[in-house]
Amino acid sequence: MKPMIDLKKQYLDIKDEVLSILNEILEGSQYVLGKRVLELEENVKKYHGVKEAIGVASGTDALHLSLKALGIGEGDEVITTPFTFIATAEAISYVGAKPVFVDIDPKTFNIDPIKVEEYISSRFTAHGSRIKAIIPVHLYGQAADMDPIMAIAKKHKLKVIEDCAQSFGGDYKGKMTGGFGEFGCYSFFPSKNLGCYGDGGMVTTNDTEMAEKVKALRNHGSKVRYYHSVIGYNSRLDEIQAAILRVKLKRMKRFNELRNRNAHLYSKMFEGTGITPPFEDDNGMHVYHQYTVKTSGRERIIEALAKEGIASAIYYPVPLHKQDVYKNDYQGLSLPVTEKVSNEVLSLPIFPELTEEEIKKVVSTILTVLG
Ligand SMILES: *Cc1c(COP(=O)(O)O)cnc(C)c1O
Repeated sequence: MKPMIDLKKQYLDIKDEVLSILNEILEGSQYVLGKRVLELEENVKKYHGVKEAIGVASGTDALHLSLKALGIGEGDEVITTPFTFIATAEAISYVGAKPVFVDIDPKTFNIDPIKVEEYISSRFTAHGSRIKAIIPVHLYGQAADMDPIMAIAKKHKLKVIEDCAQSFGGDYKGKMTGGFGEFGCYSFFPSKNLGCYGDGGMVTTNDTEMAEKVKALRNHGSKVRYYHSVIGYNSRLDEIQAAILRVKLKRMKRFNELRNRNAHLYSKMFEGTGITPPFEDDNGMHVYHQYTVKTSGRERIIEALAKEGIASAIYYPVPLHKQDVYKNDYQGLSLPVTEKVSNEVLSLPIFPELTEEEIKKVVSTILTVLG
């Protein structure tokens, strides 16, 4: 089966470097939050041009700890997109706040700033406001429209937490995603653009005080060992994952360029067919965590690809307000763009090492179905 992302191919390319570092770490005796985590944090800071970077246990934790550090909790509302991985909303629920789902832009699939403003206006006049923050997600590797989002946040004194789990290295108008809001939250799950060999995540911020809070929260609310000032968590990054991430971070620019190149090869081949290739907004470089097309004939395509041993996936088949876990709280909420798009999207294999031949094969298989 040709997978969505071939992690083995990438491993074989970096194997020698990874194995020698693993051996060094295993023979040393510092396995959690040691010098490799510090080095990775330094490297990520430089890469993004931000003041602070804090390694945590996952992308979900990065979001959760950011919300905690901002003091968001019971009774508060946090605006986000319904068209994302569940973790974005879960983090809001963890702190006792309510996710407010606002519809997306039909072209970029990212949260629509006009709808954000509409929601805020309606709530400010009617009820005062419990709205505390906005979490835009840079979906599939394309930056959300940050200028209007930041302007809305400023006007209404809201915090912005960017969910960058899919956009490591992507930018908006020349500035990397993650550097706009109070926090940038990253996931290093193996399939992400920068992925480790287990779970991992990172929080970035330009606010030193906030960084101190996240650092304490990730480690049992403690700044000095065995002295605890708040209830924290066990959310640390380990040395092995940090060291592997450093090996990959050195190659990150090239990896993202290759993803972008592969996406363009696909899109060119889909020109003039019944497949709608992803829209690329010229605000920044799309780093193609996913290559996601729109089609009305999704089921037949999935079947034809599977017959050829080619994987495909639907990110995401059910919008968050329609998920079992949330649907009772959002009865009557209609988000037509999201609901339509979730029936049409299909993601195809994309990764740096994918070859032009393989892309041709995927496309020709799809085109035979379309006839
Ligand atoms: C992967 C992902 C997360 C969660 O990251 P984990 O490291 O798996 O916890 C959050 N948000 C989005 C958009 C993601 O794609």
